[in-house]
Amino acid sequence: MFYSRVMKRTTYSETECRAALNRVSGMPFRWSLNPYRGCVHGCHYCYARATHPYLGLNADEDFETKIIVKTNMPEVLRREVSKPSWTRERVAIGTATDAYQPCEGRYRLTRRCLEILRDSDTPVSLVTKSTLVLRDLDLLSDLADGPGATVYFTITTLDDDLWRLIEPGTPPPLKRLQVLQRLSEAGVRTGVFLAPILPGITDSMESLEAVAAAARAHGAASFGSTVLRLAPLVKEHYFGFVAADFPDLLPRYERAYSGTNIASDYQVAIERRVARIRERHGFVEDAMHGRRIDAGKAVTVALPRSAGTGQLVLPL
Ligand code: SF4
Repeated sequence: MFYSRVMKRTTYSETECRAALNRVSGMPFRWSLNPYRGCVHGCHYCYARATHPYLGLNADEDFETKIIVKTNMPEVLRREVSKPSWTRERVAIGTATDAYQPCEGRYRLTRRCLEILRDSDTPVSLVTKSTLVLRDLDLLSDLADGPGATVYFTITTLDDDLWRLIEPGTPPPLKRLQVLQRLSEAGVRTGVFLAPILPGITDSMESLEAVAAAARAHGAASFGSTVLRLAPLVKEHYFGFVAADFPDLLPRYERAYSGTNIASDYQVAIERRVARIRERHGFVEDAMHGRRIDAGKAVTVALPRSAGTGQLVLPL
């Protein structure tokens, strides 16, 4: 399955952007930058799938094979950050789709944007699953020594069989961790997003703990997680994946996700589970919310008995 997916034909459609920086609300950053739309990494849970139909493309195979490339983004960004009104607030890169997916090797848009942000003394954070980010270690080191740079890796599982099923076009989790370690050793701040947690698939204490322990061992300073959300279109795609690879779980998913979010009881139980894990491994920051954790006020929470140490049972 892995090989057939990565061999799929990919087409690139080049396009012009009018604004490089997008203003964001309700997130721990106000500006985001995404050089590509669509993503060949093809994660089945990807929330960005829902945006491809705005382009007249579908949220399934088109999202993974038809990539929109904003070729003039560096020029537009340079104009925007040279305005006197630019206040050098942090810019979050790759918040919609992966800015280091394979076509970045050819177009180098993310690299050129990093150069511009460094030269304009603007701090950056970026999130990726790609090992290609290591190519830009020189720029990230400059940014880390100057206005600031944080690189987050998304890692949902360390189980190779699950990884191939869930995130078929991505580099192996261990390779991502090795790159994270290289960046940490070079002085770049790093973190791990265990996101999204997939109910009944990656939510066991053992699975969550394994990712946290590996993140810490490789030098991640922060660790955070969220539970799977299934907006329209993403839900249809994800249910198709569950039907094909986890058919026994499908009826429970259909009951649990009648809306976009799973029941709050489940989310609270998972948050407690992750808080305990974060505390046990000495992470000082919640990567998902950018909150520093005061060691003197570390939360100690008891999991409900029903949460146990195995997989949570989906609400029925
Ligand atoms: S790497 Fe990120 S953007 Fe790309 S498919 Fe996976 S979740 Fe979506």
